[in-house]
Amino acid sequence: MKRTNVIRVLYAREQAEYLEILADRCAALWNAVQYRCRQLFLKGEPVPSYAKLCSEFKECSAYKALPSDIGQEIIKKARKAWDSFFALLRLYRKGELENRPRLPGYWKDRKTGKRTAKVIPVKSPKSYRLTARTLSLTLPADLRTKNGHRLVLQTRGVLRFSGTPKTLELKCDQVKKRWYARQVVEVSKSVRSLKPEKHAAADLGARILVALAVEGMDQQLLFSGREVWKDFLYWTKRIAEEQSRLNRSGRRTSRRLRQLYRMRALRLKHALAALAARVARTLKRHRVTVLHVEDLTHVRDEMDFGPKNLLVHNFWAFRMVRNLITQACERAGIRVAADGTRDSLTCAVCGSRVRRFARHKALCRHCGRTWHADANAAAYMLKVSGSSKGHGPEAGPGKPLRYRWNKHRWQSRAESAASRSGPKAAQAA
Ligand SMILES: [Zn+2]
Repeated sequence: MKRTNVIRVLYAREQAEYLEILADRCAALWNAVQYRCRQLFLKGEPVPSYAKLCSEFKECSAYKALPSDIGQEIIKKARKAWDSFFALLRLYRKGELENRPRLPGYWKDRKTGKRTAKVIPVKSPKSYRLTARTLSLTLPADLRTKNGHRLVLQTRGVLRFSGTPKTLELKCDQVKKRWYARQVVEVSKSVRSLKPEKHAAADLGARILVALAVEGMDQQLLFSGREVWKDFLYWTKRIAEEQSRLNRSGRRTSRRLRQLYRMRALRLKHALAALAARVARTLKRHRVTVLHVEDLTHVRDEMDFGPKNLLVHNFWAFRMVRNLITQACERAGIRVAADGTRDSLTCAVCGSRVRRFARHKALCRHCGRTWHADANAAAYMLKVSGSSKGHGPEAGPGKPLRYRWNKHRWQSRAESAASRSGPKAAQAA
C-alpha cells in the first residue's frame, strides 16, 4: 500500500530563488501542455496520450529547461487532469452531475494573468534524495554551479513511513508561505499473523462521535464530540466576523480569512486523527481483528446532528472520522468492514424495542436495562455483525466509559481526574 510522508523544507534566500525558478518553469510547461490539449479538444480532435505528449514536447524549450524527471512528471500530471475531466464528463452526460465539468486549466492568476508556481513534481528517486535531515534535487543544466549539480535543502519533520520511495512533490503552501515535500512510499503490507478472529463495532454520530463496543468487554467506550464541536463553532464565529469585516470594506477574501479556515480544519482534523489513533490503539490492545462500521450512505436521515445541526452542512466530517479510523486500523493490522447495521431502537441484549427518554437514555422494558442510546447501538451492531461466539454485550450494559477531547488528547474521566489531582497532590505534600 502507498503512504505519504509530509515534511517541511527549509531554505536559504538564494535557494528560495531556485525553488521559485523551478516551480515557474513547471508552470510554463504545464501551461504549454494544457494549451496544446485544449486546442485539440476544442477542435474535436482526440487529446494525445502521455507517451505522445512526451515525444511531442521533447524538443520544446519549456521541457528542456527542466530535468527530465520533473518534465515528464508535469506532462503526466497534466494528462491525468484530462483523464479526470473525461471521467467527470461521462458522469455529466449520464445525468449524474449537475454542472458540466470545466476543462483542465492553466496555472495562472485570473486577475493578473501571471503564471502561478504551484508544485514541483519529481518522478523518481533517481533525481531526488530525501533523508530525515535533507532533501536534494537534481538541477537543470543552466542552474548548475561550480558548487554542485544538486540543490540541497534542510528539512524538518519526521518520515513516518519507510518503504520503497516513489514520486515526490514539492509544494508551496500559499497560506502559510512555506514549502513542503510530499513523498509517496510503497509500504509492504505487514504480514498478519494468524490470530483468532475477534470483533468490535463502532457507531458514528455527532454528539457521541464514536461509540465502540468490543467483543468480550462489558463496557462500551464513548467519545464525546462536545469539546470538538465547541472549538469548531468558535472558529466558525471568528470566520463570520472576518467575513463581515471584509464585506464592510468591499473585499471577498483575505489571507487572514484563509488562515482562519485552515485553522478550523486543522484543529478538527487533529482531534479526529487523535480519536482514530486512540480507537486503533484500544482495539489492538484487545487483540481485535475486525472492526464493523456502518455504511454511511443511508444514515443521514436518522442521525442526530449535534449542536445547532452543525453537521447537516458538514456531513463530510462523518466520512473523515470513518476514513481516519479505517486508516489507523489498517496501520495496526485490523480489518475494517463497512457492513454494520445501525439500530438504536433495539435492545442489544434481548432484542426487544427500547423506549428513548431523557435525550440519550434508552430503557428496555422487557429486560429492564437502561442503556446509553449510542452504546446500545454499538453493542447491537457488534451482536448482529458476526460476533458468533455471542459473548460481549450479554454481560449487560455497564456504565459506558466516556472519553472527552481536552484539545491535546482524548481522556477518560479517571485520567483527567488523575492529571488534575497530580499537581495539587504535589502541592499538598
Ligand atoms: Zn432488553
